[in-house]
Amino acid sequence: MIPFLDLKSLNSAYREELVEAATRVIDSGWYIQGEHLKRFEEEFSAYTGARHCVGVANGLDALILTIRAWKEMGKLKDGDEVIVPANTYIATVLAVTENNLKPILVEPDVDTYNLCPRNVERALTEKTRVIMPVHLYGQLADMPAIDAIAKREKLLVLEDSAQAHGAQVAGKSAGHWGDASGFSFYPGKNLGALGDAGAITSSDAELVRMIQALRNYGSHEKYKNLVRGVNSRLDEIQAAMLSVKLKYLQAQTEARRRVAAIYMAGIKNPLIKMPLDSGTDVMNHTSHVWHLFVVRSKVREALQTHLAASGVQTLIHYPIPPHQQQAYVGADFYNKSFPITECIHREVLSLPISPVMTDAEAQQVVDACNSFSVEA
Ligand SMILES: *Cc1c(COP(=O)(O)O)cnc(C)c1O
Repeated sequence: MIPFLDLKSLNSAYREELVEAATRVIDSGWYIQGEHLKRFEEEFSAYTGARHCVGVANGLDALILTIRAWKEMGKLKDGDEVIVPANTYIATVLAVTENNLKPILVEPDVDTYNLCPRNVERALTEKTRVIMPVHLYGQLADMPAIDAIAKREKLLVLEDSAQAHGAQVAGKSAGHWGDASGFSFYPGKNLGALGDAGAITSSDAELVRMIQALRNYGSHEKYKNLVRGVNSRLDEIQAAMLSVKLKYLQAQTEARRRVAAIYMAGIKNPLIKMPLDSGTDVMNHTSHVWHLFVVRSKVREALQTHLAASGVQTLIHYPIPPHQQQAYVGADFYNKSFPITECIHREVLSLPISPVMTDAEAQQVVDACNSFSVEA
């Protein structure tokens, strides 16, 4: 069976270095908010191009605490509207509702699955304060267009970069476009810790100071609390793991691209719709980091069954859109009609993709896709 993602072999490639780094943390006697965190924050902000990075406990907290910080700074208040793509992973929407702000769901671009600038324009109201583009599956949203709207309307931009470490558009990376950007280092993400971790990147020093306080009980200085914060810190041991893995992220991204290129060149089946090849994308200079390789099919269930029978594990990202989740019964977007989003959720299927897949395995996936047909 070709597994969807073999995390064990992915991490064991760096086993020695990871053990060494963990040992250093164990022997240091300092486990929270120390030199390993500081070093990783510096490395990761440099990687994205943003001036600062703040490590937190996970990707959801990165988004929640950024919005919370803007509230503490007086830039946002309860009931303000935040534009989000309707087809996102639920964490994006949770970050808004957790802060008592109002998510305004908009249909994505049907080809890129990302926030559609035209639909953003249509969703603007007097209460709009934030746009949250989600760089879904590893490809940046149309940030030049979104940035232009935000500048014109004086809106904040919070990127959800949880799936897009290193992805670029117009030569600028995820994490460097928005006023702030939330990253996840969940083990399965392109840069994954060996447990939960997340971070915010931003070039706004005041925002960064507020998030640094919020993640640590609202305190800048021990036992002095400026705001009612939370405990959401990135452990030293995870920061040390991430510093090791960040060194190999570029090579891992290249390995993902090689698998994607084999799929792009090899899969030829009219029943399978391929993702947009970012090389020929409408946007200039995009670089896709292929967090997920998502195809579409009108007969998805049959395709998934056929691939499983051919030894290929697939997953669905995601089976139920936020507006149909039970969690949002009673919200004003609950069960509203989003035909593009619903079509995407009915048809998408994620093929295996990871830096540890061999060319032969990728070819096996291609062959399994090409041998798929439906009985008349
Ligand atoms: C993974 C993910 C998150 C949340 O990250 P966690 O670290 O799991 O909390 C947020 N948004 C998107 C788009 C994600 O894929």
